[in-house]
This record gives sequence, structure tokens and C-alpha cells, in this order.
Amino acid sequence: AIYQNAARYAKSRALFAAAREVIPSGVNSTARATWSGWDPHPLFVEGGDGSHLRDVDGNDYIDYLLGLGPMILGHRPPKVTDAVVKAIREQGTVFALPAAAEIGLTRSMIAAVPSLEQVRLCNTGTEAVLYAVRLARAFTGRNKIIRFEGMYHGFSDGVYWSKHPGLNVAGSDRAPVAVPQGPGLPSGIDSSLIILPWNDTALLREVIERQGHEIAAVLTEPVMCNTGCILPEPGYLEAMREITRKHGVLLIFDEVITGFRLALGGAQAHYGVTPDLSTFAKGLGGGFPVAAMGGRKDIMALVADGTVSMAGTYAANVIAVTAAIAALQELSAPGMFERLYKVSDRLRLGLERVFDEARIATRVVGVGPVFQVWFSDHDIRNYRDAARHANHELFRLWWEGMLDRGVLFHPGAYENLFVSFAHSDDDVDRTLAAARETARAIRNR
Ligand code: PMP
Repeated sequence: AIYQNAARYAKSRALFAAAREVIPSGVNSTARATWSGWDPHPLFVEGGDGSHLRDVDGNDYIDYLLGLGPMILGHRPPKVTDAVVKAIREQGTVFALPAAAEIGLTRSMIAAVPSLEQVRLCNTGTEAVLYAVRLARAFTGRNKIIRFEGMYHGFSDGVYWSKHPGLNVAGSDRAPVAVPQGPGLPSGIDSSLIILPWNDTALLREVIERQGHEIAAVLTEPVMCNTGCILPEPGYLEAMREITRKHGVLLIFDEVITGFRLALGGAQAHYGVTPDLSTFAKGLGGGFPVAAMGGRKDIMALVADGTVSMAGTYAANVIAVTAAIAALQELSAPGMFERLYKVSDRLRLGLERVFDEARIATRVVGVGPVFQVWFSDHDIRNYRDAARHANHELFRLWWEGMLDRGVLFHPGAYENLFVSFAHSDDDVDRTLAAARETARAIRNR
């Protein structure tokens, strides 16, 4: 692809050329690569402030990328930033010894999140999921994990499968086969995975009734946020809970995106369904790297007695703990989530209206501050619906039209828009105005 308005992004283009000489694909994470949508090159960033981000060409954007989720309080949230700066000045960063602050932080997390009886900190969502899955296998003595096509649970070998497999290699709709996200995974892991389509209660029930005795856990995002945004159908999460409990299969909610975002208590609080174990990351640290895995005390007992190791030089370092304490304090203030939902809903409903008026078939799907626009006249219930019915060419026109008008989000149709506590009604008004122009341009192309 090319940028229609290439001069606007000239400095980014030049930096990208230089970066590619020394950094593979010019970026330090796949989600920033050309093939993830940042084609012909990603924007290079100068900085951010609240709901806004500025690129090296001096363009200012209303930012719905939000670092792919962590900047839930906006960029440079003053209280979190001040707390971290003070802590690293006055304390230091890594001691490989515990600190009292960890107790208070953990108590707050347990108070906020329904399923948490005990919780351990780590650094990334990838780690948190790796630990949850290992713990589930150790606790149940079973080997297999059910996971769903179209989800992402980090890049560790055991779960880096069937995110977006492509339908030509992924088996039938009712019996998908495990497809590695790429070469380099050890052979044999696929025999430990059962891949299912999401939002299909009957199939889940059938598989667990037949094979439950060998299944350690069902691993799922409570809202599918890695194939655009796909909501659980009414009753689906509840059914998952009931079926897994009946067969001694653990239910793991990967709340890396939804945690501390759909509600202070995450998707599990929002939907009222309590998993056995859950993972958290992006919503937790106000933009600093911190993650967590926790749940039932009888399961965490295997971590407590050392049977299952959770280690990490940087786990619960001063920056992570300080940031999480300050961020949680902000998120806990009365009325915070009500306001976040009000701003987010106005944006989502406003976008729906914009596309209706332009007579462009879309589904604006999401919950509160996480959503995506599907360019489709089909309902999207799972990955295969998306693979068959989502129009990526229209999404590209939409994305680039918005970028040119100062509204930033990820160029991938399988990613999300994120709204932060820093987004204002004015941001929403300006976004909707840009959307109206962009929709008109798409309509008249
Ligand atoms: N689980 C989910 C649901 C995610 O969306 C992500 C990251 N996008 C991860 C796990 C991995 O988290 P991290 O990038 O912090 O390793």
C-alpha cells in the first residue's frame, strides 16, 4: 500500500527506512509491522498527552490506539507518573526482595476482582497466561487445553496457535485443527490443544462431555478482542462456567485487555461470571509494564508451596508496583467507569449513526471502552465469520481517512479502538466529525 497523503508522513517514512537497516522489519513488535496493517510504514511517535499523540511529522491525533490498551488513563497520567518518578528517585527499582507495598496492591486487586482470592504479579500478559495454563495442568493433572480460534494469548509456545489461521488450513467449522502462528514451535504441542469456534455452547458442551477427563482448562477472553471485537452471546459465558465446573475443567479468563477496563473488576464483574483463574496486564499499570495471574486459593496453593514456580527478576519491581497502586487508586474513584462508558457509548452510537447515514453496511461492536467497526452486513460471532465477511479494503479506506483527519487507531481490522479516561466529549465530537467526512469520502469514491 501507499499513503494517499504521503507528504504528511514523510519523516516517519525516512525513520522507517533507517530503522529497517538495523531492526528486523523496522519495529520491535509484530503489531507494528507492515503486514499487521502499518503499510507502507508505521508512524514514528514524538510523544503523547492525555488522549492525544503526536508523531514526528508534527501531526496531532486523538488517540484510540492507546498503546494497544495500557494507556487507559491517557498518556502521561500525572498521578501515576509522579508516583513512579518519586519511587525510582527515592527507592530504586529492583531488589529481588519483597516490599510492603505489594501487600496493599494485592489487597486492592482482590477487593476489586470477583475471582481473585490470591494473586501473583509478573511482567507481561504472555507470562501471565503461560503461568495460568501451567498451573491448570498441574492442578488437574490433565494435559489438554481448549482454546478458541481468533484469540491471542501471548506468544508462548503452548498457546501461540490458531490466532488467525486462514480458513484453507484450519479444518472444518465444527472441528478446527490447531494451526501454529508460524514456524519454530516445538512439534507435538498441537496434541495438547483443542481448538474450537467461539460462541458455540453446544459444541463446547459436546467436547467437554466426551473428553472432559483429559481437559485441564478452557482458556478464553471473556470478550474476543483479538479478532476485532466480538461479544459473548447472552448466556455463553454462563454456560462455559456451568459446563467446566461440572467436569472439573478450570475456566481461565484472559483479561489482559478487559481487566480493569470493562469495569474495575474486569469482564468477570461486568458479566457476573467468575472464572477459576484469570490473567491481567494492560489495564493494570497505567502504561507501565505489570501483569498478574490469580484466582482460587486452593489452586494458587500450588504456587504457594512451590510445586508450580512463578519466577522473574523483574516481577513486582518498584516501577510496576508503584504504577499499579497509583493507577488502581485513580480507577477506583467514584463515577470513573460511569463517565468512561458515557463517553465511549456516545462515540460508538455516534459512529453507528454516521455509517447508517452514509448507508455503509457496518457493525459497530463492543462494550464500553473497547470496540471495533466491522465493515460487513453479517453478524460476526466468531473468527470464521470475520474471515468470511469482514471487508478489509473498506476498513483500510476508513482507517487512512481517519488518520489523515487526525484520528488514530490500529490499522488492523482485527484490532480494537480503545477509549481512555482522558477522552473528552470534545474528542468524541471531533472524531465523529472526521468520521462523517471519511464516510462520505468512502461513499463517493
Ligand atoms: N492475552 C491477550 C488477550 C492479549 O490481548 C495480549 C496482548 N495483546 C496478551 C495476552 C499478551 O500480552 P503481552 O503483550 O503483555 O505479552
